[in-house]
Amino acid sequence: MKPADPLPGPAAFPAGVTEPLLRVRHLRKEFPVRSGGLFRQMGSTVQAVNDLSFDLYPGETVGLVGESGSGKTTAARCIVRALAPSAGEILFRTNGRTVDLAGLSERALQPLRPALQLIFQDPFSSLNPRMTVGQIIGEPLVIHRLARGSELDDRVDDMLLRIGLKPEHRTRYPHAFSGGQRQRIGIARALIMHPSLIVADEAVSALDVSVQAQVLNLLKDLQQEFNLTCLLVAHNLDVVRHVCDRVAVMYAGRIVELAETAALFEDPRHPYTRALHSAVPRPDPDQRMNCGLAGETADPGNLPSGCAFHPRCPECFAPCAQLRPELKDEEAADCERPAHLVACHLRDGRGAGLPGGGIG
Ligand code: SF4
Repeated sequence: MKPADPLPGPAAFPAGVTEPLLRVRHLRKEFPVRSGGLFRQMGSTVQAVNDLSFDLYPGETVGLVGESGSGKTTAARCIVRALAPSAGEILFRTNGRTVDLAGLSERALQPLRPALQLIFQDPFSSLNPRMTVGQIIGEPLVIHRLARGSELDDRVDDMLLRIGLKPEHRTRYPHAFSGGQRQRIGIARALIMHPSLIVADEAVSALDVSVQAQVLNLLKDLQQEFNLTCLLVAHNLDVVRHVCDRVAVMYAGRIVELAETAALFEDPRHPYTRALHSAVPRPDPDQRMNCGLAGETADPGNLPSGCAFHPRCPECFAPCAQLRPELKDEEAADCERPAHLVACHLRDGRGAGLPGGGIG
């Protein structure tokens, strides 16, 4: 039986209500465990993404945040079909129709590739050192036979100007550029196809903090200029704070909280979000960066029972080790979009009567 939709929306979208560009439903990605360890048998699997559901609306930027191993990068790569999902739906609206990317063959995906672009994490290894910057940026247009000759050159020059470089940089090689400039080149390569969805996978994590801000500002400007829809993957809440409209926090392959950015920072409701929030570096040297969590992030090959966060949760109580909390919208049911979703027993009524428990 198909699981219940965790993000119920209007059955039919009335006039004036925006339909999502992307609807991810019950997405799963498992990897087989190839080596038999002492406790793992051959044939067991690692659940990298475990029942992930969210919507992405046209023109918005959503941050997908979590520690290393939370499944955010795997989820992002499944969404652009750099990885094949194990189960679930990735409903993408394109040219007036909705297609389920999860079920498409590589051949059927080809015509949709220009609309789905990925910005890679590492600007040093993601650019071919044997190609000039002009060839790198123009390559997608050549592969999809969308431009050639002087039109190709003009479009590459235009992109170079938009990312803050000059047309004369077209003949240089990647090694001649700094890390921030290389990431700009990676952004230009993705944007030259005029995609409708950009997935930026830790796009600034390999850069110095001062350069991170410049690249994020550029991404934000280009997002507004091209009316892009963006999924920004990051392990640091601070990175998403100034560029995202909404933020989804992931733990052990699931979303544990999803809200508009201001609400998530002003009123973090999940204990894991609060821990991540406390880990954001502060300018005050007396405030040390400490997320206050004991233990390691959950092992996706051996997830804890109930709430996967319970072995580390400072607010864990009786039901947490047995029952998995569902992601529920705590705001008014008549909102056009899910407003503030939380998966925690402290919020679903099971903690009523406990100190700090119950719906606040
Ligand atoms: Fe903590 Fe329990 Fe909430 Fe999980 S369900 S986050 S263990 S309080």
